[in-house]
Parts: sequence; structure tokens; C-alpha cells
Amino acid sequence: MDRMSETPRPTAPRSFATAQVQAGYDAGIAENTAVPTIHQSNAFEFRSLSDARDLFALRRDGNIYSRAANPTVLVFEKRVAELEGGIGAAGVASGQAAVAVALLALAKHGEHIVAARQLYGGTVDLLQDTFADWGIEVTFVDQDDPQAWAAAVRPTTRALFAESISNPIAQVLDLGAVAAVARRAGVPLVIDNTVATPYLQRAKDFGADIVVHSATKFLGGHGTSLGGVVVDLGTFDFTAEPERWPQLTQTYKRVPDGSLVERFGANGSPYIALVKTKYVHDLGPSLSAFNAFQLLQGIETLDLRVARHTANALEVARFLAEHPAVARVHHPGLETSPWHANAQQYLPLGVSAVFAFDLYPTGDAAADFELVESFIARLQVVKLVANIGDARSLVAHPASMTHSHLSPSQLAEAHISSTTVRLSIGLEDPRDVIDDLARALEPVLAQQSPAPAAEQADEPQLADSSSR
Ligand SMILES: *Cc1c(COP(=O)(O)O)cnc(C)c1O
Repeated sequence: MDRMSETPRPTAPRSFATAQVQAGYDAGIAENTAVPTIHQSNAFEFRSLSDARDLFALRRDGNIYSRAANPTVLVFEKRVAELEGGIGAAGVASGQAAVAVALLALAKHGEHIVAARQLYGGTVDLLQDTFADWGIEVTFVDQDDPQAWAAAVRPTTRALFAESISNPIAQVLDLGAVAAVARRAGVPLVIDNTVATPYLQRAKDFGADIVVHSATKFLGGHGTSLGGVVVDLGTFDFTAEPERWPQLTQTYKRVPDGSLVERFGANGSPYIALVKTKYVHDLGPSLSAFNAFQLLQGIETLDLRVARHTANALEVARFLAEHPAVARVHHPGLETSPWHANAQQYLPLGVSAVFAFDLYPTGDAAADFELVESFIARLQVVKLVANIGDARSLVAHPASMTHSHLSPSQLAEAHISSTTVRLSIGLEDPRDVIDDLARALEPVLAQQSPAPAAEQADEPQLADSSSR
């Protein structure tokens, strides 16, 4: 808009109190900022009441209220949608909210979801606790077993859900195999692409239909701002079996004249319209303009950062794999990893900067905890923080932190032992990170009495094939 061509409306004389709330700003004037602006406004001024009516009836796109849509958030949504190759996106307050609204828009009371067993802890809580309360059933399967995925599908199944790279031990999903099961079942495959990011993997290329992210992690990249996003990749045809998806194909009370497919099917995403106008609108997990701005700033350097994260992480993994105090390194970039072949197929640009390693256990649970605790206490460059995807290198102890409420059998299924240590490698000089780990590991050898390390160090890593 050329603001010079606008005829300014005459300003009525105003008092101080009126000026302090109105002077210097007219809604709708483009300020030519080169960088997306933080539109920190709860609501938006309508040109007229008929303008407001059109917007409320979704006859026209436009801003009403920031819980539903905000111009800064819109830039974030469009940017992530394009990076994932999608047709629309919904920005939300957190990754947790993204997973919740993405699945709620597909499955309701009495319906069913098949999910990988190897999921982020918060997602497990959501699916097995809160969704169970709401009558949405979830079957968890070993993500590496395509037969288990297929066997778990029921007539009421409405989505398959998995992470492209799991955490803490960085299992790389055979996305094509699970996508084939989803296609046969006639339901969308929803992929949490948080750890991979669209730079390392476009899940769409391998058959995913919907992608969710915790933008809190690598998209933002600086550990400052929570956020999440749901992306419709536009690959799933909800009209093929319209009776399965009444929320999209039958009359939707919140838009005039018909269904969401009729209203948004031709140029937009009926699914994202449902996510926004129903679930984000009703439950309220909106992304703030400020956080959207921070996340956008992060995304501008995504490829540079993730390339550095992954290169640094591989160097650290190789160092750890050689270290006599380390029993095993769960990094799919190493040839010894059971997921190395999947990594080569699905992540040709490099694998996760989030991975784990196991110290040789002492044979005693309390002593193991002390071993890990003293190791972490010696770290100086690597920080003890319950987060991943930060510019800083971070360490966590899953068994006593992120996964502490899992049962022993759930821990075993997730390949987490008492001496498993998770790392999220940052953007520091990798030599400093390696030196830090080396210093902290040195005394561990002495603690691993009665010196099992010397004997076991010669064993090939992952000799135990049951760890698959
Ligand atoms: C952190 C995380 C989430 C949850 O995201 P928040 O932004 O913390 O709510 C979901 N999935 C994965 C894979 C994550 O790492």
C-alpha cells in the first residue's frame, strides 16, 4: 500500500488522555518494515460493521482477534508451511498444543489412533491419559514393526502418529513403511518432525500427510520461545471416504453455506480451518505475536544452524564411541546403529543433534545414579537443562528427568537404562564440547568398579540385537 496516496482522515482535536491511547497510529497503514513486525495487538479495527460481519462469517479473510489469527503468526505459519511443502499451517502456543489439536481434529470420542511407542514423554501423557479420559483410544506399537502398525488398525482408526526421529535415543522412523500402512487404512499419517526439522527431512516426500512441530526446539533454535505448528501437507483426500470425516465434509455451523471442504477445499486447507476455527478457537492455545517473531528469526538461519548442529553432534558421537567408559552410543550416523540404514535413506543431509549414550553400568542402581550425577556435575560447557534444539549444548538424564515416571518395562522398551545420558549438541566449537565431555568422563572409568570397562570395551557396540 502506498501510504502517500492515502487521504488522511481529519483528526478530531483530542485531549491528553485520548492522545495517550490513539496518537501516532492508524490501523491498516503499512510501515514498510523489511522484517515482519510484532503485531502485539489483541484485536483488530474493522472498517465498518458490515466488514466485521463478513469477517465473523468467514466470508472474507482478515484479522479479528489474536486468539484466532494474528498477522505476525500468519507469517510464521506461511513460512513453515512452505518449508514443509504444505498447503496451510496453524501456529499454536507449544509443541504439546500442536500435537493435541492436530489429533483432536481427526479423532473424537469413540475413535482410535495408532501411535509409536517411542514418543516424546508429554505426547505419551496426552495420548494415554488425557485422550483416554476423553474416550479417544490409542494403541501404542513398536515403530520399527510395520506389521504391528497394520495389525493395530481398526475400523474406528482415524490417524497414525509417530516422530521422524525419536528422543532420547534417536531412532529413525521407516517413514515409507508406516505411510504405506496409513494409505491402506485410509487415514492420514501425522509426523512429529521436531527433531529432524524440514531441513533434514521433508516428511511429505516419504508419504506423511500432516506434520507437527515443537517450534520451541530447532525452529526457534535459541531456547527463548515456546511455540508449535501443525502443517497440512495437502496429500490426504478427506473426500475419498466423506462419511469418515463428518467434521470436514458435513455442514459446519461456524461457516455459512455448507462444509469446510466446500468452503476451503479449492484453495486452502479445510483441515487447518478446522484446527483453527474449532480447536484453537475453543481451547485457546494461541501463539503470541512476540513468540512468532522470535521463531521467525530462528527459522531464518535454520539450514545453517542445523547443518552445524548435526556436524558437531556426529563429531561428539564419534568421540564417545571410542571412549572406554562409554558402553554404547545411540547415534544413527554411526555404522553401529541399528537405524544407520534408515538414516542414510531418510536423512541424507545428516542426522539428529539429539542423541544418547550409555555409561558402563556398575551393577548397582544407586551407584549408577551417583556415577551419572558426578559425571554431569563435572560438565562445564554442556549444561544440565530439560530442553533440546538450543544453541547451547545440553545434557539430561532421562531415567531421573524426562522419563522418570515410566515403568521399568516402558524404560526398557524405550532402550533407556539408568546410565543413559541424553545430549542435544549446540553450536559451540565441538572441540570445547568434546574436551568438556573428556574431562568429565575421566574419573568415571575409576568408578566403574570392578573395572568392567577394560573387559567390555572390546565388545562391539550394540552386539545385543534385542535392542532393536
Ligand atoms: C518438546 C517436544 C514436544 C512438546 O513441545 P513443547 O513446545 O515443549 O510443548 C513435542 N514433541 C517433541 C518431539 C518434542 O521434542
